Amino acid sequence: MRDPEELVARIRHTFATGRTRSPAWRTEQLTRLRTLLTEHGEDIADALYTDLRKPRPESYLAETDFCIREVDHTLGHLEEWLRPEPVPADALAILPDGASACTQYEPLGTVLIIAPWNYPVQLLLVPLLGAIAAGNTAVLKPSEVTSVTSALMARLVPQYLDPDAVAVVEGGVAETTALLAQRFDHIFYTGNGAVGRIVMRAAAEHLTPITLELGGKCPVFVDQGVDLTAVATRLAVAKFRNAGQTCVAPDYVLTDPGTAPALVAALAVATKAMFGADPQSSDAYGRIVNDRHFDRVAALLDSGTTAFGGETDRTDRYVAPTVLTDVKPDDPVMREEIFGPVLPIVEVAGLDEAIAFINNRAKPLALYGFTERESARERLAEETSSGAVGFGLPVAHLRVPELPFGGVGESGLGSYHGPHSLAAFSHRKARLDVPLTDRTH
Ligand code: NAD
Repeated sequence: MRDPEELVARIRHTFATGRTRSPAWRTEQLTRLRTLLTEHGEDIADALYTDLRKPRPESYLAETDFCIREVDHTLGHLEEWLRPEPVPADALAILPDGASACTQYEPLGTVLIIAPWNYPVQLLLVPLLGAIAAGNTAVLKPSEVTSVTSALMARLVPQYLDPDAVAVVEGGVAETTALLAQRFDHIFYTGNGAVGRIVMRAAAEHLTPITLELGGKCPVFVDQGVDLTAVATRLAVAKFRNAGQTCVAPDYVLTDPGTAPALVAALAVATKAMFGADPQSSDAYGRIVNDRHFDRVAALLDSGTTAFGGETDRTDRYVAPTVLTDVKPDDPVMREEIFGPVLPIVEVAGLDEAIAFINNRAKPLALYGFTERESARERLAEETSSGAVGFGLPVAHLRVPELPFGGVGESGLGSYHGPHSLAAFSHRKARLDVPLTDRTH
């Protein structure tokens, strides 16, 4: 990396010129970002296949097309979102007549975006488009773990976007540490909580505001009497896509002993329908990103009883889609985020015990429920805390750009997507206009 101080000074200087504040600049950059994605969908899919054996349809669905949809939604609404929002000025009736009050967004300045490896395009470019929409300049740090995608982003971004306003810095811990020593106006970090703490400490030195998009264990409650074929199909897709390496993937299932056996049987059918009898030879199934994560996930297979799956091949970094039963709450698989294609089923007596189980652990990024009972949905939503709660279709909430995407407690701080990205990368400034002539007299 070039001298980080010099690099940040150059990007900061661009912000100081004021050109990134203009709505025309923002729109042009977002449009160019869209062109990058449409012109290089194939290259991106190739890079993701090399790094993660990511199936091509998944690359389009969850990376390229996802980013394009966010760009389009933002371009379609930016003018409206940027409009100052009037608030009543006379609530306490202490101001002269004619006073008006509003809030208006202003850009923060130069922001740092640090991305992880599991969706290395989406999690780099969706925050970036929010930063641009808000009128900021940005330094991007893609994950070194997915090195081919990182190199592609480092090559393409300066070709399409204003290179004095957006810079890509490749590298690992040393480079990120050097960047974190600089003063930024916002740091947007996606990844694990241990590094989240490092980011928060570094930000404190400069009183820099942060967004932390972290992970954790996302629980799923499956109620009695639901259509288990439908549940299993949706669960299997959400869990086994990207070989389970999705921050909002279902981590474990809570269900009653009467429902568990039929759910396991339905999951076996659904998994076979997705990947055939031998998932290792299926084009639709991904791989664990590296040897370190392979060893970590493989070690979790010792918990409970393997209902199906369980096969591994280290040379191929393959872990079969696996369901574990007879899992105890303190088994290793229940002590950390799994982040792999292993789904433990923990039996609970019913909804009361499920809620207590969830509340006994760190606040998840997402909580899912499959139930026909409105009262059960209300209780899950009201009596637990999580970044998001989703009923009927796990993971899908992140495809609604008007919903804030983010965690709470251990699963993160702040949120983004759609208008929430603009809010994340802006200061909401208070404005009061009082006429010079006091019209009350
Ligand atoms: P990772 O290893 O790629 O690390 C993330 C980033 O942190 C990288 O850019 C890396 O260079 C940097 N980094 C690593 N160690 C560092 C250090 N010591 N100092 C400074 N920077 C450092 O990715 P990861 O953390 O393994 O990602 C997986 C985690 O991310 C999971 O916990 C997952 O749930 C979470 N995640 C959350 C979201 C979300 O939107 N909330 C999305 C994806 C992943």
